[in-house]
This record gives sequence, C-alpha cells and structure tokens, in this order.
Amino acid sequence: MKKIVINKKFKIIAVAILLALVIFLVTFLCIKGLKKEELELSSYKMELSYNDESKVLTGQEEVTFVNNYDNMFTYLYLHLYPNAFREGAKNPIVASSDIDSAYPNEASYGSIKIEGVTKEGQPLNYTIEGEDQNILKVELNEEVYPDEQISFTIEFSTTLANINHRLGYGNNTINFGNFYPILCMYESGVGFKTDLYHSNGDPFYSECANYEISLSYPSNLTLASSGQLITAETTNDITTAQLKGDKIRDFCFVLSDKFSHASTKVGNTVVNYYGYQNDNNIDSSLEVSAKAVETFNSMFGQYPYSQLSVVKANFLHGGMEYPNLVIISDDVSSEDVAYVIVHEIAHQWWYGVVGNDEYNHAWMDEGLTEYSTMLFFEENESYGEDFDQMIDNATTNYKTFVRVYTNVTGSVDTSMDRPLSQFNTEPEYVQCTYTKGLLMFNSIRETVGDRKFFKALKDYYQDFAYKNATPADMIASFNKSTGYDLEGFISSWLNGEVVIQ
Ligand SMILES: [Zn+2]
Repeated sequence: MKKIVINKKFKIIAVAILLALVIFLVTFLCIKGLKKEELELSSYKMELSYNDESKVLTGQEEVTFVNNYDNMFTYLYLHLYPNAFREGAKNPIVASSDIDSAYPNEASYGSIKIEGVTKEGQPLNYTIEGEDQNILKVELNEEVYPDEQISFTIEFSTTLANINHRLGYGNNTINFGNFYPILCMYESGVGFKTDLYHSNGDPFYSECANYEISLSYPSNLTLASSGQLITAETTNDITTAQLKGDKIRDFCFVLSDKFSHASTKVGNTVVNYYGYQNDNNIDSSLEVSAKAVETFNSMFGQYPYSQLSVVKANFLHGGMEYPNLVIISDDVSSEDVAYVIVHEIAHQWWYGVVGNDEYNHAWMDEGLTEYSTMLFFEENESYGEDFDQMIDNATTNYKTFVRVYTNVTGSVDTSMDRPLSQFNTEPEYVQCTYTKGLLMFNSIRETVGDRKFFKALKDYYQDFAYKNATPADMIASFNKSTGYDLEGFISSWLNGEVVIQ
C-alpha cells in the first residue's frame, strides 16, 4: 500500500513536472514565433517647424535604430537626399531635357544642414560623406548587437529650392519628399546601401519604421501627409499638427494655400483627394482613387493603413508615390489623370507595403505597378480602356524603342535589372523597367494561367508585407505559388535575351 502511495505521489510529481515543461516550451515557442512575426521596428520622432518666408524647415529628429540585422554596429549611415539639390551637385537631379519644366523661375538650389548629433544630451561625432555630400555617418560610441537598439538625435535644417520636384516649392504647392535624414539599408555581405540620388527613377530604398511627428506651419496652408493626423491646434497663425505613421517606409507631406479636398471611405481606409480650389474634377479624381483602392484590395490583399491621400501638386513628372500619400502632377492632362492616379495608388502595394531596392531593381515595383494599372482597367471596363489594346500599344512602343535605338547607336541594352545609373537615357530606363516590366508580368500570366498568377500576386503581397523583396525572393515566391520553375524564364527577360515579337 505504501509503495503504491509513493508511486502515485511520484507519478503526480512527474506529471506536474512534465506539464510545467510543456507549458514552458509552448510559451517559449509562442514568444519566439511571435518575435519572428512581429519584428520591432526602428522609429523616427520629429519636431519640425516650417518657415514659409525663408522656405526653411528646421527639425529635431530622434532616430531609434533597432538592430534587426546579423551584424554589430558601431556607426550608422543615413541618406541626406536634400543635398542632391545643392548648387554644384555632381549628379543632376533632373535630366537636361526636363530643366525647363522643373524650374518655374530661374535655377534654384536647396540643401540639408546638420546642426548636431547627440545621444542622451552628449554630442556624437559625425561626418558628411559621399560623392554629393549625400551621406551622414554617425559614430555611436558603443557597440550595438543584434536585437539591441540605440537612440540619437539629429538637429537639421532643410532649405527648399524653387523647383517642381519631390522636395521644393512651386507656384501651387510646397513638397516635402525625402526631407530628413533616413537610415541607409544594410545588406549582409554588402554593407550599407548608400546609392546617390539620380534623375532617372526613384532612387530610394528603406525599411518600414514607426513615425511620430509634430509639425508647425503657417495656418493659411493646408496639410496633406503620410500617416494620420492625430490633433491640430492653431495659435498666432501657426498650426501645429501631431502626426503618426506606423509601419511605413518613408514620410512625406505637402502644404498649399490652394488645396480643396474631398474624402470617402473604402474598407478601413479613408481616401482623400486634394485638388486646387477652382478644380472641377475633384469628385471624379476621388472616385477613381477609391475604385483603385477597392480593386487592389480584392486583387492583391487589403491595404493595411487607415489613410491614403492623393495630392495634386507641382511636380515635373506624372506622379510620385510615398506611403499613404501620392503626388499627382498638376501638369497631367485630364485624359491621363485617371491612369496616373491608378499607377501611383498601385505603388501603395508594390513599393509601399512590399518594398524593394528601387535604385538597383526598379523593374520590381515599376513593372508590377504598371501592369497592375492595366489590370485595374481590365477589371473596370467603364473607364473605356481596352486591356488587349493597352498590351498591344506597350509591345509596339517597346519594339519601336529597340528599332530606333539599334538604328541610331548600332545596338541597344535591353536588360532590366540594372542600377539607375546604368541606364544611358530616360527612354531606355522607362522602356526597360516600365514597358518591358509590364510585358514580362503579362507573359508570366499567359504562361501559368489566371488562377495561379493572381494567387502568386496575393501570396507575394502577404509574404513580403512590410519587408523588402529581392529579385530572387520574388522568383522563389512565384515558383512556390504557381508550381512552375520560372527562374530561367524571368532571367531571360531580365538579362535582355528574350525577343519580344
Ligand atoms: Zn511608378
């Protein structure tokens, strides 16, 4: 009897220990799994003040870098994109053919000045580096290991050029794209990615981060921005807005004394359209914007942010994408405006949520975005665009480009996967990344069929949300979703071997 009792006790203890172990293991694995799913992101906390007389934005920016890399850091690099607008910058910010449309008056210059960098009130050493003073190197004074984080504060002032560009002021709007120091990406085995600004394409590449911004500006101006507005207060003709943006890869805002805006809701997202006060197409522009969000929500997956603003502005190209905010040039004709709006909104999926290195692999977001724009018009026939005709036109444009360039220069480089600096002309960049890009995605669709193709886009969106995909990631993702081995097929498009008939 006694023995049995002892055995029973022993059994109870053993079971209890086992149970505790199981609970511990399950909890541990859950936390580990959760940690892998929900990476803590770096963050930017800014206090900004814009003086419209001097056209200078002064700012204090607290950067919290979370080391999600397999590397220990003693220094960090940040991009200083506004220095591309300096007088004497080696790399022109606009192609020579665009100079007249870029500058509303005479040539004008801008820049960013770093006033100081501190950590917990103590100064940190920093240097301005790069071919065009485009990089800020901050010495951290300590070793930051994987999963650790460090915060430091940068004081800066950004002077705007009088230019119709991402950053600058025109006759109608004041655009603040890429106005602040932003962390350079780091790639294992490569190092920091410090590519220069370039007049072709969108020379940007960044991680998703969390933003908290306090912005003061003259109260006669209306604000459109990334993230969402939390509060706004006006005293003595100065408005101070509190803004917040979670899991976004950049932050942009536009100010204007001419804005008139309208809003609607699509799913969980408020869609805003900012036009000018005397515009008569605000409702139709808002309507196509909302339709684009609705179409891409069901085609690729839900847009995860609560706000999206489509903003008419002075801008030398057709449009430009930022997280939760797209710029539509006020130069775009009324026939083209719907197309440009849909293209820029498609970038919210391909660039915004799923990121990529836009400097070195521009086809990834531009090709897929251009094709997504055509998919929108295929899906929404009421806009009167014929999908097959659009594909035919793209094919003809591309073939004309190849023929003309071959006749003029003897040969033409039609490879797609090149850094922006290696495209010889703007037409070469546009034809190889946008046109050939969209034709490649259409060709993949024809190969694997609609069902697998659209599943692949949905899977790619879900698997790389808030991350950056490489070309190899995209190919592997498409292979997994479609069951095809598309590597050779896609490579032949990328390296220029494929002949388009
Ligand atoms: Zn684009």
